[in-house]
Amino acid sequence: MQKHWAVVGAGIAGIAAARRLVAAGYRVTVLDKSRGIGGRMATRRAGDFQFDHGAQFFTARGAAFSDAVAALVASGQAAFWGEQGYVGTPGMSSFAKGLAAGLTLVGNQEITALRRGPQGWTLSTAEGSATVDGNGAFDGVVIAVPAPQAVPLATSAGIDWPGLARVRYAPCCALMLAFAAGSVEMGASLRPVGDVAIGWIARDDTKPGRPAGWETLVVHATPDWSRAHLEMPPEAIAVLLLQAFRALTGTTAEPVHAVAQRWRYALVEEALGEPFLWEAAHRIGACGDGCIGARVEAAFDSGDQLGAAIVAMEV
Ligand SMILES: Cc1cc2nc3c(=O)[nH]c(=O)nc-3n(C[C@H](O)[C@H](O)[C@H](O)COP(=O)(O)OP(=O)(O)OC[C@H]3O[C@@H](n4cnc5c(N)ncnc54)[C@H](O)[C@@H]3O)c2cc1C
Repeated sequence: MQKHWAVVGAGIAGIAAARRLVAAGYRVTVLDKSRGIGGRMATRRAGDFQFDHGAQFFTARGAAFSDAVAALVASGQAAFWGEQGYVGTPGMSSFAKGLAAGLTLVGNQEITALRRGPQGWTLSTAEGSATVDGNGAFDGVVIAVPAPQAVPLATSAGIDWPGLARVRYAPCCALMLAFAAGSVEMGASLRPVGDVAIGWIARDDTKPGRPAGWETLVVHATPDWSRAHLEMPPEAIAVLLLQAFRALTGTTAEPVHAVAQRWRYALVEEALGEPFLWEAAHRIGACGDGCIGARVEAAFDSGDQLGAAIVAMEV
């Protein structure tokens, strides 16, 4: 009978794991708490504007990820952005969508627990059993969420992975800004050195395939500043980061859009140091950037290697 696996988390790691399992003939259902997919490879749309407010660009060094990127460049869902690296086109989330083509994805399912019954695994949400085909009879589960969110899921399944609890992430406060054309003093993206508040300013509108007409920028606060301000309301963070942006760039124009987003788990500071985790007795694995490091390619490699290992171990 065809094996049916659940993947919790539709970021790059979960998608990469699911692709491997599907390629080996498994039935796979990917669940995510969000409506969309891509996780931190995100694009926020607001009226006329769009912003990559999470990952900014990515590099491809290893063969597996380079092949995946090349296929999406060929299909128009990724492109090279100057000397930085690749971006999704027309938005960063397009890359995740392209990578997930053909997968079964179910959104709005925040999984809170995994329990094994006589037929297989059941995934639960705060409301009860997740409303997804085959729930209660999953042969195995891939947990592909940031490590601090993976720990309670593993614990609910009766698994203790001490290494996972040691993985650390830096938060990031992000500010999405849109200005009328000709308003912004800085012509290119900027990584300021030594600024207390701001670690990176992207000219999002200079990425390939972005809508014309407005100047759109994404400001990322430094890890220290983000840590100190993470619990403030987003509106207050927006005011402070706009002030810091003005001071740094000399821009005096009023933005037509200024909205902040808080990423609690943005960039891995301390990784597990193993490509994935696997508990054979339970048929549960865990993957994600927390295993290898703070990069899109690391997340992909972790999921891809876990998927390949499951297929190899189950033969
Ligand atoms: C601000 C910022 C800037 C970055 N800049 C770069 C960069 O320039 N270059 C680069 O290479 N990388 C960058 N990164 C890092 C990169 O985005 C990540 O390493 C990568 O996207 C992680 O992928 P992932 O699949 O491991 O996790 P995620 O993308 O976080 O995916 C996990 C998914 O799980 C879902 N989820 C979580 N809990 C549950 C649950 N209980 N039930 C169901 N679903 C759940 C989430 O909604 C999410 O979709 C940046 C990240 C941030 C936030």
